[in-house]
Amino acid sequence: MELKITCIPGDGIGPEIVSEAKKVLDAVAKKYGHTMNYTDILMGGASIDAYGVPLTDEAIQTARDADAVLMGSIGGNTTTSPWYKLPPNLRPEAGLLALRKALNLFANLRPAVLYEELAEACPLKEEISSAGFDMLIMRELTGGLYFGERKTIEENGVMKAIDTLTYDENEIRRIAIKGFDIAMKRRKKVTSVDKANVLDSSRLWRKVVEEVAKDYPEVTLEHMLVDNCAMQLVKDPAQFDVILTENMFGDILSDEASMVTGSIGMLASASLNDTKFGLYEPSHGSAPDIAGKDIANPIATVLSAAMMLRYSFDLDREADAIEAAVKKVLQDGYRTVDIMSEGCTQVGCRQMGDLLAERIGL
Ligand code: NAD
Repeated sequence: MELKITCIPGDGIGPEIVSEAKKVLDAVAKKYGHTMNYTDILMGGASIDAYGVPLTDEAIQTARDADAVLMGSIGGNTTTSPWYKLPPNLRPEAGLLALRKALNLFANLRPAVLYEELAEACPLKEEISSAGFDMLIMRELTGGLYFGERKTIEENGVMKAIDTLTYDENEIRRIAIKGFDIAMKRRKKVTSVDKANVLDSSRLWRKVVEEVAKDYPEVTLEHMLVDNCAMQLVKDPAQFDVILTENMFGDILSDEASMVTGSIGMLASASLNDTKFGLYEPSHGSAPDIAGKDIANPIATVLSAAMMLRYSFDLDREADAIEAAVKKVLQDGYRTVDIMSEGCTQVGCRQMGDLLAERIGL
C-alpha cells in the first residue's frame, strides 16, 4: 500500500521526534511491504520565520492532498520567544487552529495507557495502578461551550458575562459514530459522559448516543455523569475503554487521564474528520527547554504514528507491531530521561528510535 503522509516537524523537539517516528514507520514499511510517501510542511514558529505567517495556504493544500498528517509539535518559549510578541492571529498556535479548521477535524482521540513497566510514574495508589488501564478519550472538538456565542455586557451597572453551550443532533451523531467505530477496534465498551441531570445539551447528547448505539449491538454503552467520571478516573481507571464526551468535559477529563499515567512523553493523540483523514500528534508540547539535545522521548509521536496506521489506513497489524515494539523496548529496560528509573538503561531520542525500529515485527 502507498501511504501519502504530510509531516509537520514543527518547532522545539518536533523535528527530532518526527524523524524518529519516520524511522519506525520506515521499518514497518520494509517489513510489511508498504511505501511511505512523505511531504514536509512548515507550521508554527518555523513557518513564521520562513514566511511571516504560522501556516501558508500552500501548506494547507499539501496537508489536504495527503491521506494523513503526522505532526511533532509547535510553539516556543511563551515568555522569551519573539513569536509571542506578534498579534495572536500570527502566533504559532494560530497555525494549528487554522489547520484543524481547514481540515474539519471534529473528533479528538487521546489514549491514556499505563504500561506495567512505568507503573512507578503513576500517582495512584498501588492497589489501583496494579490493575493497569488502557482507555481512550474521544472528545468533540468543534462545538459546545468553546464555540458558542459569548458576550460581556453591563446591566444596571453590573458586569455580566455569557457563554453558550450549543450542540445540534448532527454534531453529536457524527462524534458518537466515531466513538462507536473506534470501540469496535478496541474492547467494545463506550462510556458516554454528560451532565444530563442538569443540561439540555447533555439530554440531547444522551438521546442521540442511544440512537447511534442501536447500530452497534456488539458495543456495551453506559452513561456517566461528568462529576462521577472525574472521580472514577482516579478510583477505578481500569473500568474504561472509550470515553465519549463533549468539548469542555473532554478537555478536562483528557488532561486528568493523561496525568494519571504520569508520563507525558508517552501520550499520543489524533484528530479526525468524517473521512479516514486524521492529524496525529503527541499530546505534549514542543519542549523548547530540551530541544536539540537528543534527550526528548519520541514514543508519544511513534504511538501517534501507530494510531495513524490504525485509524487512517486500517493497518491494524502494523499498528499492533509498533505498539508491541514500544512494550518490548520498555521490557528490555531502555528509557529516555523523562521516564528513567533505577536499574534501566538511559538512551537518547535517536537511540530510542533505533531500538524501536529494530523491534518492529520481532
Ligand atoms: P511541553 O509539553 O512542551 O513541556 C512540558 C515539560 O515536559 C517540559 O519540561 C518538557 O521538557 C517536558 N516534555 C514534553 N515533551 C517531552 C518529551 N517528548 N520528552 C521529554 N520531555 C518532554 O509544555 P510547555 O512547556 O507548556 O509548552 C512548550 C510549547 O509547546 C509552548 O509554546 C506551547 O504553546 C506549545 N504546545 C504545543 C502543543 C501542540 O503543538 N499541539 C501542545 C502543547 C503545548
